[in-house]
Amino acid sequence: MRLTAFGIGVVLYLCGTGFGCLAAAGAVKPFSFSKVDLSLLEQVDLLDRKLERDGLVYLDARLDEYLARVGRAVTPAGPVPERVAWRFRAIRDPLPNAFALANGSIYVHTGLLGLLDNEAQLASVLAHEVTHVLERHSYVSYRSYRKKMALISAIQIGTSWAPMGEVWGASLQAVGAIVPVVLAATVQGYSRELERQADLYAVDKISGAGYDPRQMAETFRLLGHADDLEQIKVFYTDHPALEDRIAYVNGLIQSRVPDEAGPEKLAAQRRLYLATVQPAARHDVVLALNSGRLRTAFSSARKLADFDPASAENHYLLGEAWRLLGPRAPEVNAADLSSKAREEAQKRNRKFTREEQDRQLLETAAGRAAWEENQARAEQAYREALRLDPALAKAHRGLGMLFEAAGKRGEAFEAYRQYLTAAPVAPDRERIQRRLERLDPSLKFPEQRSGHE
Ligand SMILES: [Zn+2]
Repeated sequence: MRLTAFGIGVVLYLCGTGFGCLAAAGAVKPFSFSKVDLSLLEQVDLLDRKLERDGLVYLDARLDEYLARVGRAVTPAGPVPERVAWRFRAIRDPLPNAFALANGSIYVHTGLLGLLDNEAQLASVLAHEVTHVLERHSYVSYRSYRKKMALISAIQIGTSWAPMGEVWGASLQAVGAIVPVVLAATVQGYSRELERQADLYAVDKISGAGYDPRQMAETFRLLGHADDLEQIKVFYTDHPALEDRIAYVNGLIQSRVPDEAGPEKLAAQRRLYLATVQPAARHDVVLALNSGRLRTAFSSARKLADFDPASAENHYLLGEAWRLLGPRAPEVNAADLSSKAREEAQKRNRKFTREEQDRQLLETAAGRAAWEENQARAEQAYREALRLDPALAKAHRGLGMLFEAAGKRGEAFEAYRQYLTAAPVAPDRERIQRRLERLDPSLKFPEQRSGHE
C-alpha cells in the first residue's frame, strides 16, 4: 500500500513513459501472487480492521452509499480482480489525502472530502486510487522495496521520515503502528511512472463515466492551494510541482470532455456532492482546528456556510474558525509562499506551540489588526448561529471564550452562564463552571454536580 499523490507534499509522478499503459488500464490483468505478496495482503487486511477498531473510519450511511456509487462508476466492468473487494470509505483525518490498499479498500480522508468541490473531482481521486489497485502497484512496489531495503531497519525509517513540523494524520499513524515495513515502503512511494499511470487512467475513466475531466486538473489546483494555506514545504524537493501534473493531465483532456458534461450537470453534481459530504466536512473542520490547521479549517467552514447558510451549525463552525485564527490572517499572501517563508513557518511550528505563536504575533501591528478583525467576525458568526437556532448552546460557549480572551469579563460570564443553562448535561460542564468561578470568585459551584437536578 501507499499513501498516494493526493497528499500533502508527498507528490510522486511524471516520468518518461506512461501513455502506453493506458490501453491496458481498466482491463483486469492476471497476477500471480507470491508469498511476499500474500504477506502484504495479510498486513493490509489487518490495517483495515485496525482503522475500524480505532474508530478512524468515518461512519455515515449516506456518504458510504455515495462513495460506493461514484467508486463503482470508475471501476472496470466485469469480474472483480483476484483478491480484491472494492470498498470506498471515509477516514477521520484532516490531511487532504486518499489512499488505496492492495485488497481494494480505498480511503478518502475527511480533509480531502472537505477540500473537494464536486462529484467529478471525487471521481478523479477514486479513479486514481482504483488504478493503484488494478495495476497491483503496492505489490510491485513492495517487492522492489524489499529487495532494495532489506538491510535497513524498517522501524528506523518509519520513525525518521516524517517531514519536520508537519502534523501527520491519524491514518498514517495507524499505518505506522501496525505495519512499519509497509509504512517504510510508503516513504519510497510509487514511482513517478506509476503515479502518472494512475492519473492518466483516471482521466480516461472519469470522462468515460460522463464526468468532466477538467475537474481533475481543478483537484490538483485545490491541493496546491491547501498546501499553500498551511505553508507546507514540499518534502520531496526533486518532485515536480502540481503544475506539471496539471499540464500533462490538461494535455489529455481536450479530446475527452464528454458531451453530457455541461455546466448544469456540473452544478447539480456540485450540490449533491456538497450536501452529501457536509456532515463529514463539518467533522473535519473540528479535526483541522484541533490539529492546528487553522486556515484550512477556516476555508472549509466558510465554504460550508456559503453552501448552506441556513445551517446554524455551519455558522457556529465558522465562528470557531474565526476565533481560533487569533492573530493570523485567514489567507496567505505571496510573501508567505516563498520557500524561505515556508521554511520559517515550519521552524516556528516545531519550536513553538500555537499559543506561543499567538503571543508573538500579537506583538506585531499586523497581528493585532488581524486579531481584532477575526474576533469581530467570530462574534458575528456565533450570533448568526444563535439567530438561526437559539438552542445551539455551544455558540454561547464560543462567545464566552471570545469575550474572555478579549478581557470582557462581564460578557464572558453571561455567555458561559447561558451555555450552562442551555446545556445542563454538557460533558465540559465542570470546565466551564471553573471559568465562571474565575470570572466571579464569589461564585462557588458544588463539586461533582451531576447536571440532572
Ligand atoms: Zn497515487
